[in-house]
Amino acid sequence: MNIHEHQAKALLKEYGAPVAAGVAIFSADEAEAAAKSLPGPLYVVKSQIHAGGRGKGKFKELGPDAKGGVRLAKSVEDVVKNAKEMLGNTLVTKQTGEAGKQVNRLYIEDGADIARELYCSLLVDRATSKVSFVVSTEGGMDIEAVAHDTPEKIITVGIDPVAGVTAADIAKINSALKLDGTAAVDGEHLFPILYKAFTEKDMSLLEVNPLIVMENGRLRVLDAKVSFDNNASFRHEELKPLRDLSEEDAKEIEASKYDLAYVALDGNIGCMVNGAGLAMSTMDIIKLYGAEPANFLDVGGGASKEKVTAAFKIITADPAVKGILVNIFGGIMRCDVIAEGVIAAVKEVGLKVPLVVRLEGTNVREGKAILDNSGLDVISADDLDDAAQKIVAAVAKAA
Ligand code: GDP
Ligand code: MG
Repeated sequence: MNIHEHQAKALLKEYGAPVAAGVAIFSADEAEAAAKSLPGPLYVVKSQIHAGGRGKGKFKELGPDAKGGVRLAKSVEDVVKNAKEMLGNTLVTKQTGEAGKQVNRLYIEDGADIARELYCSLLVDRATSKVSFVVSTEGGMDIEAVAHDTPEKIITVGIDPVAGVTAADIAKINSALKLDGTAAVDGEHLFPILYKAFTEKDMSLLEVNPLIVMENGRLRVLDAKVSFDNNASFRHEELKPLRDLSEEDAKEIEASKYDLAYVALDGNIGCMVNGAGLAMSTMDIIKLYGAEPANFLDVGGGASKEKVTAAFKIITADPAVKGILVNIFGGIMRCDVIAEGVIAAVKEVGLKVPLVVRLEGTNVREGKAILDNSGLDVISADDLDDAAQKIVAAVAKAA
């Protein structure tokens, strides 16, 4: 689960991290009061979307010459003017894709005078099985470009899970970021705080880009991006209200209600598969035959008819889907349950695109008989290879 910058900052503030005062607003009417509650004279108006690169982003509706999704304002009036211009419009950044994301909330923040912009993130380093700090003096900009062009400027400090953040770790991070004086003292406080927040809240990523050294020598968290590990969501009731459904794919929200592992993709062949490995192979083989999958979908081991029906409905509701491939290897999953689910879904929502079904394993004969007797126009396939070729051909023919 991802959250907005203002929520991430509020969370980090609870842990004692230095963040600026700020107010999240949902309509332009709130902009004046928000700005007036801050000290000024410098304000920042920040688009809240679940994507980075907002500063360099462009609003679709405002044309190429308009300012980006993070704007400095020098007066209350200026804040109001920018808020009116930004709210409701679509921000396109490097991370949103061409479609962009609608800006439904803004964060009005007390502006900082920046001396240096640094990069500081925490993530789980799977190679060392440690939560690690990844830091660089080259913050503020595209860290991927730094990693590509000057990888020596990115330094990783792995944290021992038993010892936690030690004085030696802090010294390494401070030195990597060239922090001294007051900033180094601030670092001694901040880095253990970030580690504590990361581990206690089961984050999978905490990215502060930039972490700034201000003109007065103090450190401040200027931007914050947080992702939580969904596998640990059961022990974080307190985080549930932070979820913003408007930032998520509607199909993925629907799938999560039924506990389906579903990821929307850009292609046009909808896939219903059981088992993550088989789902991956199915996507690969669709690509091998020159087409692109519209989704990843694992209906899981012992899926019920209701779950299969829901899965099939999610696939057919996607206007991009021009053909459907059902690929089931029945182990615990029974082929007849799949067949019944498919038929129940088609009865409800109809079937406007070609459907190829490949069933194998437990109750395969019953499953095939159910489909054969349903009167549905199902193209049946013998194996994965055959199934992929048939759906790709059927979609090409229909186009
Ligand atoms: P991002 O573009 O989505 O990563 O958004 P950021 O929050 O990182 O802001 C982008 C850039 O705006 C930063 O790298 C800063 O250069 C600038 N910026 C953000 N807040 C302030 C501020 O308080 N004062 C100043 N001077 N610049 C800021
Ligand atoms: Mg940033």
